[in-house]
Amino acid sequence: MSGMIINGKTGDWEVICGLEIHCQIISKSKMFSGGSTHYGSDANENVSFVDAGMPGMLPTLNEQCVRQAIKTGLGLNAKINKYSEFARKNYFYADLPQGYQISQFKYPIVGEGSVSIDLADGTTKEIGIERLHIEQDAGKSIHDISPTKSFIDLNRAGVGLMEIVTKPDFRSPEEAGAFLRKLRSIVRYLGTCDGNMDEGSMRCDVNVSVRKVGEDGYRTRNEMKNVNSVKFVMQAIENEARRHVETYENGGTIEQETRQFDPSTGTSRVMRKKEFAHDYRYFPEPDLLPLVLSDELLAEVKADMVELPDAKKARFVKDLGLTDYDAMVLCENRETAEWFEKAAKGHDAKKVANWMMGDFFAMLNEKKIGLEESPITPENLGKLVDLITSNVINGKTAKDVFVLMAETGDAPDKIVEEKGLKQVTDTGAIEAVIDTVLANNPDNVAAYKAGKVALMGWFVGQVMKESKGKANPAMVNQLLAKKLA
Ligand code: MN
Repeated sequence: MSGMIINGKTGDWEVICGLEIHCQIISKSKMFSGGSTHYGSDANENVSFVDAGMPGMLPTLNEQCVRQAIKTGLGLNAKINKYSEFARKNYFYADLPQGYQISQFKYPIVGEGSVSIDLADGTTKEIGIERLHIEQDAGKSIHDISPTKSFIDLNRAGVGLMEIVTKPDFRSPEEAGAFLRKLRSIVRYLGTCDGNMDEGSMRCDVNVSVRKVGEDGYRTRNEMKNVNSVKFVMQAIENEARRHVETYENGGTIEQETRQFDPSTGTSRVMRKKEFAHDYRYFPEPDLLPLVLSDELLAEVKADMVELPDAKKARFVKDLGLTDYDAMVLCENRETAEWFEKAAKGHDAKKVANWMMGDFFAMLNEKKIGLEESPITPENLGKLVDLITSNVINGKTAKDVFVLMAETGDAPDKIVEEKGLKQVTDTGAIEAVIDTVLANNPDNVAAYKAGKVALMGWFVGQVMKESKGKANPAMVNQLLAKKLA
């Protein structure tokens, strides 16, 4: 049970939330023009006549954007609609030169679907997807450069977006957060959106209402626009739900409105009274034909699908013997999962996972680098695990070898060879060390024999030290026990 219950003075309230997420489509050019989508260009560098809304310019649909939308729909286990239509959404805004946005309304390209989310208590929950439609982005107004002037940058105008609308299935901030992380993981696996919320390529509108526990239907909801991090989305839901409860309990009413969440104060304020669909005077886009998908195109996109995080996770648990938790962490992003698979291939997968999630991630963190810059290759981590499982080195030596691997990028077998770190498993050699230790410490030997058995640990430590950490610890324990008996 991951639902959030707010205990009010008039009873228990339940949180209801749905999300609308705008995902910027990965594509070289814009949705209806040849303008570049490159991020970080100079202002207005990537603006074609179509993007600028010049009279007489006509949109041409970019097939790559359509493929990306289908792919994402498949990733959301959703129905792909072979027939969809573009519609004009009319509104006036300074950074929307056409005076309307080309979007989809009655007939979106993707229909209902579902996404499974993993919750902290180990359970999963299905979140319903209402639809996914494609549309063009607007430009950007800049008000903070000059005190007297506003500026417009149209680089983003016309860039392809996928708007993903969920059902009002979230019952807590935690569920919404888990969904956003899952959606980001899916689109990144698919390569359809880079999922960077801080760069605005994934933007989230949050719809929140509350109702008494056991009540049917939904009460009025409020929408918070463009919340730009998972953490802020979670804060916005909690804050808004509490505001609704307080309002109802003080005899007030909630009106449908669009609000702006301010992360610095953790509160929201009214932006405008909620607009309704009819305010936009939607009508079918006269410059574009309905979008009809061929079976060939659908088959091509399907053939191009990659294994998604849920399927990968299930396979890691079933075939490689990982725990649910380890598999979930390793599958959250595709690069990590693929790195792990390379490292685990032909080796003890569970041990490789342990090393990766322990010393390896810690090393990347410490060096502040990503997987792709790691001095340790997947092959070498696999080899290190082999050296341990085949008793060539012991666990303690392995930690030292790992540090040297991270410093030099060398293979573990080379390091073990050069530094002479091979574990001593020769009984005679270990016995010789034990004899020296016992001969040098007659008092402790006597004390041990008189009943101070806790000294065993001390003897083991001395022998390991004398052997420079290379003796096989299990053999040391065994031989010591025999000699001291
Ligand atoms: Mn939209």
